[in-house]
Amino acid sequence: MTKNIPVKKNEYYEMDIHSMGHEGEGVGRIENFTVFVPHALPGDRIKVKIVKVKSSYAYGKLIDIISPSENRVNPMCPMHVKCGGCQLQHLAYPEQLKLKKQKVIDNLERIGKLENIVVHDAIGMSRPERYRNKAQFPVGTDEATKQIQVGFYAPKSHRIIETDTCYIQHKINDKIITQLKLWMKNNNVASYDENTGKGLVRHIFTRVGFKTGEIMVVLVTNGTHIPNKEQFIDMIRSTSADVKSIIQNINTKATNVILGQENRVLWGSDSIIDYIGDVKFNISPMSFYQVNPVQTEVLYNKALEYAGLKGTETVFDLYCGIGTISLFLAKKAKKVVGVEIVPEAIEDAKQNAKINNIDNVEFYVGAAEEIIPRLYKQGYKADVVVVDPPRKGCDEVLLDAIAKMQVEKIVYVSCNPSTLARDLRFLEDRGYKAIEVQPVDMFPHTSHTECVCLIVRNDKGFRDL
Ligand code: SAH
Repeated sequence: MTKNIPVKKNEYYEMDIHSMGHEGEGVGRIENFTVFVPHALPGDRIKVKIVKVKSSYAYGKLIDIISPSENRVNPMCPMHVKCGGCQLQHLAYPEQLKLKKQKVIDNLERIGKLENIVVHDAIGMSRPERYRNKAQFPVGTDEATKQIQVGFYAPKSHRIIETDTCYIQHKINDKIITQLKLWMKNNNVASYDENTGKGLVRHIFTRVGFKTGEIMVVLVTNGTHIPNKEQFIDMIRSTSADVKSIIQNINTKATNVILGQENRVLWGSDSIIDYIGDVKFNISPMSFYQVNPVQTEVLYNKALEYAGLKGTETVFDLYCGIGTISLFLAKKAKKVVGVEIVPEAIEDAKQNAKINNIDNVEFYVGAAEEIIPRLYKQGYKADVVVVDPPRKGCDEVLLDAIAKMQVEKIVYVSCNPSTLARDLRFLEDRGYKAIEVQPVDMFPHTSHTECVCLIVRNDKGFRDL
């Protein structure tokens, strides 16, 4: 077979890119043989070096752009190729949105074999930059110069790439990193070394409440003692009057997990406040909180619109995290029942209900696929179910219980169109019809695609909003 492969490893070729893969890589053909080329775009003619050859496809490295695609733009970040955090910065933003819509359509057709679903244009951001409210930067030391490095890991490695600024993060991070480096230098503080397990500073982790401006800074340390702690606090506070919380997180384990179990407040509060819509959230270092608050509000408003609540409904919010969607819907529903597998998140959810004076919500800890069948057997019924599962989608046991409950409407929030398509197929085979999908761009410049889908029971196959 191998003799039919027209490309060879380490050889150079010219080729046209005709489409894009799901990770944002360019796809083209050399003598009818598929080649994936990261950072290449449909419409580019390129020079490529083949780096990996498989039986039915190959991977290439972009060497030169012979003639660029008309949709190619200068990436805002000079480190874009090295960092790998943003896969699409070289693609004009309107085209990024088209690509994400197409990804949803392709998955619905290919995996779900679904037809007649309206897929709307993706809702993008008017300013698709500096949108993230959470940053976690690894801290290391350059082997040659012995300088402290703070930045991002290069793709698939633990080599730190330094950047002056990250264009999808809040600008305050630049100042915080500068102060951290200075404090480490002043006090001879070593960065943590993964190989030896020695050194103190592992990560600097920040959160910003976009509505309130409040800033949290978490220093993740391998050990408890912080040399010249007062100076660290002063230097971090000097970055902004909005710094409200400085925390030490202790992580002494040899692990890739960033945060350890223990948090110590070094200065200020143990949490910060933010709002989505008019719902208030208390955010601590460990809390799960959506990273793009502006688009989260757009997404939840769409979910609310699809739920079409009149005030008489019982709503299940499954995979509810810290209760963000539950609380968002509670004011419009008779009752909301949230289910989430992480006990700490449910603690946060209950706390969040309290600080918002919302008392028509109930939260359960556990797997949705265990709790919902049980509630069904006990005779519980929901009028509307919202699901917001992780990438792997919903368990069939759960979808089956929802179908048996004869829930009228399902609002499916998905961060993975392929599992959404699979789950929609499962539901269509049990008497449901997916009506429309609204992609919302939660992660501009990356290939991640988020959407919300309205599904109704077949005999209600119309939009009753
Ligand atoms: N709806 C929330 C969180 C969505 S993220 C928000 O918008 O903020 C998905 C959540 O599902 C995570 O909090 C994760 O802990 C939870 N989860 C994962 N598997 C689960 C399961 N089997 N049952 C219930 N929750 C689960």
